[in-house]
Amino acid sequence: MSTLDIRNPANGERIATLPADDAASVAAKAQSARAAQPAWAARPLSERLECLRAFRAAVVAQLDALAVTMTRETGKPIRMSRNELNGLLPRIDFFLAECERSIAPETVYEEGGMREQIEHVPLGVIANISAWNYPWFVGCNVILPALATGNAVLYKPSEYSALTGLEIARLLHEAGVPQQVMACVVGAGEVGSALLAQDVDGVFFTGSHGTGRRIAEAVGSRFLKLQLELGGKDPTYVCEDADPKAAAESLADGAMYNTGQSCCSVERIYVHEKIHDAFVEAFVQAVGGFRMGDPMSEDTYIGPLTRRPQLDVLAAQVADARARGATVLTGGRVGGGAGNWFEPTVVVNVDHTMEIMREESFGPVIGIQKVRDDAEAIRLMNDTRYGLTAGVYTPDEARARRILSQVHAGSVYWNCCDRVSPRLPWSGVGDSGVGLTLSKYGIQTFTRTKAWHLRQAG
Ligand code: NAD
Repeated sequence: MSTLDIRNPANGERIATLPADDAASVAAKAQSARAAQPAWAARPLSERLECLRAFRAAVVAQLDALAVTMTRETGKPIRMSRNELNGLLPRIDFFLAECERSIAPETVYEEGGMREQIEHVPLGVIANISAWNYPWFVGCNVILPALATGNAVLYKPSEYSALTGLEIARLLHEAGVPQQVMACVVGAGEVGSALLAQDVDGVFFTGSHGTGRRIAEAVGSRFLKLQLELGGKDPTYVCEDADPKAAAESLADGAMYNTGQSCCSVERIYVHEKIHDAFVEAFVQAVGGFRMGDPMSEDTYIGPLTRRPQLDVLAAQVADARARGATVLTGGRVGGGAGNWFEPTVVVNVDHTMEIMREESFGPVIGIQKVRDDAEAIRLMNDTRYGLTAGVYTPDEARARRILSQVHAGSVYWNCCDRVSPRLPWSGVGDSGVGLTLSKYGIQTFTRTKAWHLRQAG
């Protein structure tokens, strides 16, 4: 039987060895899910929502232990692990409150004995292939509304957060979701590939652009529902009328929170030349206050990177920027020892010839570029193949709206960043993906619309 080793990214030590799935076990789980889904869909919505309610209560009751598991396998600082679990609760509350309304059948026409109705029916069996950086958020954004709307879910957590993935499945089973309706498959990319080969009705993926592209190629000809939530190179522009210190403190957090490993981390910053130097000084000071260390420690802000190969990506971006004339104001080095440590890094005198301003860093590294005016900022913000989020800092709402309406991104922020709301759709444009989660549309997305044309006899 094949196995999956789970390692602690803070020190490289093996913390668990899990039995992994193979093509045969994935196929067996897919067949069981197919067989079990109609009975699950036939249960009243209130019963399915009751399972979500019980799941929420279990998360609350076991929150501290679940946070420790996540921190040990991903290196997420322990306070941030608890934040993620606490942040999950309002998302569950949103699904509980909105599900019924979002998928209620609608009568859209009624005249002369003719009635027209729209019904939302479950897709059937869906595959969810997920990322490790916010395993509870990105997993549950798919799993919970998919189950609530009557689907069976085949869930492949990332190999870097498999213990957490198994915990999500365990709590859902204990909450009353049948094992066959919510099946977890364990393993790396090849297990993901095996999952794609199954008879599924939808594929919901969260991860990198490269893998998203491979998945789209693998299933493209099958006309499945396909959603891809991918990476970004999220820009923010700080106008000259913004408070440089307040903006710097907010954006340093937006760039470095979760050790910079958020899909909506601030990845590049443009600052109006009039306040550039004051902003940079305050930014470096804010970063200097971030404590890097043991992720289990309560005062740690910067932990290890979850994936070791990312150390090379960050080192290469910094080296490329240096070689092209950038200045590294702080950080820039791989830390010593067996863990995956990279110093929080601030780079200035950057431009768009440099990888640091073009390719996703996904780590505690930021480039800050000086701009002359709004037009230059807009041009640079749009000079990317990605389009996940973008932000503007200015006290002037009209100016922010004017700028952000010209920026290609799924979510835009005024005087805030690195923020996700269950009430708003989460989506990307361009290479940041297709489809969406969250909001009422992120509930409906797990259904297909069925049109009813009903004529009264006689
Ligand atoms: P990844 O693409 O390496 O892996 C994601 C998942 O795909 C994992 O479960 C992995 O095992 C699986 N996989 C790998 N190869 C596969 C294949 N050939 N077929 C099927 N499955 C395969 O990404 P990651 O490192 O886990 O996540 C980081 C990326 O995710 C970043 O780019 C980040 O921006 C992005 N992300 C996006 C969002 C969003 O909402 N847009 C949210 C979180 C993370």
